[in-house]
Amino acid sequence: MKVSKYLRGSGRFLAFVFVASVLWLLFDMAALRLSITDVNGQLMKDLVLKERQLDKTQKTVTTNLRRYPVQKVNPDVEASERSEQFRRQVGEVYRGKKPRRMNGEKKAKPGVHDLAGSDPKVDVDQNQNPSVRKISPIHKVTPGIATEKEVLAKTKAPSPGQDGKHTKLQSNGTIPPQTPPKRPPKDSPQDANTFQKIEPDALKHAVQTIQIINKGESVVRGNVTAKPPQHLVNASSIQTRELLNSTSVRKKDGLHKVMNLDVTIKPRDTDAPGQFGWAAEVPLDDLEESKRRWSEGYFNVFLSDRIPVDRAIPDTRPQECMQNLVHDELPTTSVIFCFVDEVWSTLLRSVHSVLNRSPPHLLKEILLVDDCSTKDYLKEKLDAYMAQYPKVRIIRLKERHGLIRARLAGAAEAKGDVLTFLDSHIECNVGWLEPLLDRVHIDRRKVACPVIEVINDKDMSYVMVDNFQRGIFKWPLVFGWSTLSTDYIRKNNIKVSDPLRCPVMAGGLFSIDRKYFYELGAYDPGLDVWGGENMEISFKIWMCGGEIEIIPCSRVGHIFRGENPYAFPKDRQKTVERNLARVAEVWLDEHKEIFYGHGYLHLLDKNLIDIGNLTEQIQLRKKLQCKSFKWYVENVYPELEAPLAKAEGLVFNVGTRKCLVQEKGSLSFGICDLSKQSQHFSYSWVRTLRQNNTCVSAQVAERGVALEACDNTKPHLRWLHKSNKILAEHLIAETHFQHLCLEAGSEGDIVSLKPCDGSSPYQKWHFTHYFAQ
Ligand code: UDP
Ligand code: MN
Repeated sequence: MKVSKYLRGSGRFLAFVFVASVLWLLFDMAALRLSITDVNGQLMKDLVLKERQLDKTQKTVTTNLRRYPVQKVNPDVEASERSEQFRRQVGEVYRGKKPRRMNGEKKAKPGVHDLAGSDPKVDVDQNQNPSVRKISPIHKVTPGIATEKEVLAKTKAPSPGQDGKHTKLQSNGTIPPQTPPKRPPKDSPQDANTFQKIEPDALKHAVQTIQIINKGESVVRGNVTAKPPQHLVNASSIQTRELLNSTSVRKKDGLHKVMNLDVTIKPRDTDAPGQFGWAAEVPLDDLEESKRRWSEGYFNVFLSDRIPVDRAIPDTRPQECMQNLVHDELPTTSVIFCFVDEVWSTLLRSVHSVLNRSPPHLLKEILLVDDCSTKDYLKEKLDAYMAQYPKVRIIRLKERHGLIRARLAGAAEAKGDVLTFLDSHIECNVGWLEPLLDRVHIDRRKVACPVIEVINDKDMSYVMVDNFQRGIFKWPLVFGWSTLSTDYIRKNNIKVSDPLRCPVMAGGLFSIDRKYFYELGAYDPGLDVWGGENMEISFKIWMCGGEIEIIPCSRVGHIFRGENPYAFPKDRQKTVERNLARVAEVWLDEHKEIFYGHGYLHLLDKNLIDIGNLTEQIQLRKKLQCKSFKWYVENVYPELEAPLAKAEGLVFNVGTRKCLVQEKGSLSFGICDLSKQSQHFSYSWVRTLRQNNTCVSAQVAERGVALEACDNTKPHLRWLHKSNKILAEHLIAETHFQHLCLEAGSEGDIVSLKPCDGSSPYQKWHFTHYFAQ
């Protein structure tokens, strides 16, 4: 009765308005989801379904023919079930167990897993030659980690992958041959159907032009390849603020789901080479040309030029990322690309991936810093092209500064709250930006790195990498990736979407609060051209109060290449070594000897190398009251093997069965006694035989030894021990062209230098403890 009263007269009108509004809202939600969330959603869903069907029919033939192989675990279990099983194991069985922590260590921020005190199994893929590359060691590449089910759920391009193997770097720094994600063959009847069915239907209504407006300024005119909501097309604009307010994006007060924008310049051509991140193929007739052009970028430049600059790539984010929320009020960012002689098409693809996949209100600008390129096409032609995009600004350096100083030049011009550095041959994936900015927003001292995926240098396919990998280094400051052990992941209940604390960053791609970057003293401007700067900024961040995180919900593809396509003003090896020596001198404290001891003793010779003035860097470290490297090892990277000496304890002589004693400024022998400090020596990484600050020096002319103040730069204080098989137990004076060895007098009183004799027990010495060979 009461209800019908309200449905009379003006009440009826109000009820009608109410119902209409609800319907409108529902339509709005559905439409927005379709248009904004998933590029090519329907299109890819159909494709993946076809792929699955095809997969099933081909399974019996041979696994090599499978285009999207899944991990080989148990052949009886479907991939999708396997992933479910894993999720159950990790998520439920181990749920509730707290991460293990070191005593007195501060609690990790929510959502971040603290690696300190852990013992994750370190499994490093790394290039042994530190001079070769900065980011070169690639993440392990996972075959089909996003299972078909996950791909379907995301309705995105199918995930590329390989045949159940992990990819390791080859010794030359290149990626070993992979099974790239291939386009379905044209002559396959199933695939022909797939394409025939999808192309006309999907594209006819799916591609509509929209315009994205940021504060009244047109930044991108483009197309979304999903059916856009009619009212937005009519309005011919999407206000990102409007998006934020939409119920499909907004979740709770102040938080929203990541905006998965993906705009294109023109309708996507499903037939285009490399579309959807699939492997592109060089036609037989063009093989020669493609080989010839390889050295323009040290990747397949020929193919890159044929791939659309705004191609789609598979959304490789873990399923869990779909639930992640980010803050509404995120800081803006300036994206900085430094480049020197970059290939035209890869540079454009890098820029478009940022323009098309970043919420415009967060993208303040894109700064292209031309580090004095020599190619003509990077001058007026680039100016003209980029003039279409008001957010893009080109900064020209008059002389070659090198990556490090070029970044500093870009940062000096930047206006955004956050600096986002990217290499100039990358492709940002859907939803890449907000998760990075969110971490900086939560704490301005957080430096956020995306997961770096692989754009195959040979066929340009987009290849997804394994999860749970973090950047680490091995001696002598060689960057590598290390996968957390399954055990560690389970024990600490780490979700695949959780940010991971990262001891060192790869260096090429990261977001950092602009003011914080300067508070940290930016990069050491004394670092030359390329290399070592990732170590410098990593140590600086951690030791001076910040954190480095890898954000699994932010993914960016990068072309890893075997060689640098640009010239080094000075010798490349020497440039990188010199940079590393600067980093070691400023940041490693007593651990720097470990660095020099791993093949870099020559860097200690000031006559051979000038590493420049370090005063400012050392002062900066003091001013910022940064913690010690010992603290860093203990709290950030406890898995690092970093014994301060190669050997230490008593120095036992096999012939006399006595131990070396240092007393009253001279060397003698005594009955071995561990409790006597005068018998304690250490054999350092820089090969000195020392007690505190006193070192044993070889007096070649007198065939004797003396004691003097330690000085790592003096070669006559260096002794070889365990360095070769025949004289392994000997202490060999390094200075003499003829090997001279430390020998105890048969009476056990004097020590002298004698020609080495492999069989003499009086020339054999043993330390109590050995920490390294
Ligand atoms: N770069 C630069 N000046 C240089 C060297 C490199 O601007 O002297 C740019 C280069 O074009 C690229 C980025 O710095 O965009 C990183 O260099 P690269 O990709 O060669 O390093 P990698 O990824 O191999 O570590
Ligand atoms: Mn690069």
